[in-house]
Amino acid sequence: MNDPRRNTPRADAVLADPRLRAAAVRLGRPLVHAAVNGALASVRAGELAPDAAADAAVAALPASPASLRRVINATGVIVHTNLGRAPLSTAAIAAVHDAAGHTDVEFDVDSGARGRRGASVLAALRAAVPGAEAVHVVNNNAAALALMVFALAPGREVVVSRGELIEIGDGFRLPDLLTAAGAVLREVGTTNRTTLDDYASAVGPQTALVLKLHPSNYTVRGFTSSVPIRDLSTLDRPVVYDIGSGLLGPEPLLPDEPDVASALAEGVALVTASGDKLLGGPQAGLVFGRADLVTRMARHPLARAVRVDKLTLAALEATVRGPLPPVTVALRAPVAGLRTRAAAFVLDGVAVVDSAATVGGGGAPGVELPSVALSVPAEWARPLRLGDPAVVGRVANGRCLLDLRTVDPADDEALRAALNRLAGPANAGRPPAGPETS
Ligand SMILES: *Cc1c(COP(=O)(O)O)cnc(C)c1O
Repeated sequence: MNDPRRNTPRADAVLADPRLRAAAVRLGRPLVHAAVNGALASVRAGELAPDAAADAAVAALPASPASLRRVINATGVIVHTNLGRAPLSTAAIAAVHDAAGHTDVEFDVDSGARGRRGASVLAALRAAVPGAEAVHVVNNNAAALALMVFALAPGREVVVSRGELIEIGDGFRLPDLLTAAGAVLREVGTTNRTTLDDYASAVGPQTALVLKLHPSNYTVRGFTSSVPIRDLSTLDRPVVYDIGSGLLGPEPLLPDEPDVASALAEGVALVTASGDKLLGGPQAGLVFGRADLVTRMARHPLARAVRVDKLTLAALEATVRGPLPPVTVALRAPVAGLRTRAAAFVLDGVAVVDSAATVGGGGAPGVELPSVALSVPAEWARPLRLGDPAVVGRVANGRCLLDLRTVDPADDEALRAALNRLAGPANAGRPPAGPETS
């Protein structure tokens, strides 16, 4: 009998394979070595022929040294936190690409001297929201709120309604963040009703700020009341409004969703928001408002710990100055256009159905956007997720729905290819999807 251990090729002999040498340039040596070692272990175990080691190592190589994979979001949830929230626009991706190497992020090419970091992003945001005296950008909205407490309310009271003590998701609770940063929360009102008097009688010598939080993932219905921000702004303390979603101006399709320009026009001192929800840009936290307060935040020592990198600055500026980002395009896409796209997916096992998309963790809780989905057998859901690119739909009532509102039209071809693979010969004989509404 052949002893596989004696016939196992040497690692460097396998590594000399031109395909593996090329892969070492593309992927780095450690990943190629790991693939080769895995193949050689199989040879030693007698599971693989010695002369198949190189082929097996090549087959085991990852496509990229980074493991995040491309996903087609067919969930119908426009801002899907588990899928990376907002996808960047083509213009923002190009800006990230250009800034990825050396770039003039803090350098003035004209004078050859140091330049002000992020100056042009701040100018773009100020131009987009003329009512803001000043703007500051940090890593995310949570960082903006923490920096606000550090700079404006350390050890002091922040007055907030009991109806707005919210958990964003994954156990992240805003009240915990505010107290961890050193604020003393002064809760007023009840879960369903808070009045201006509740706020007014809580404001005292220890009060630094009044905070309003937009509940971005739930609504309170029935016997409710909250105080319009115009009235809150009459209180004798700066009002900070965390709007969450990051709309810079009103969005007609989402009339109940707050926006930066309107909030400032109604008198709040500061607005905080995320960059990667309805704004449609990279992860970032945006602060707009009174120059004295923004400056105190920007100059606080902790500002350095939450500052954004050049890639974020590049993507954010391109999002604000450039063409509409995919989030806005998806939000506003007319149903007729979705129906036309759906009609191009005529395949065995695929039916076209009416659907309802949502904005998602980014805001507009309770809002349903009319949409169109491809309905495929539920058993296709897993192979679709495991494909490249991965396709993620939502499974309901024994079907997997692929909602076209959240699929970038540029990905229709890739989606069609993924479905074609599943609708192929292996599925011949499957009963047709049956009559469904369209
Ligand atoms: C999403 C959200 C946050 C957290 O924002 P991040 O950018 O994820 O840190 C804070 N407040 C509200 C109201 C939100 O909707």
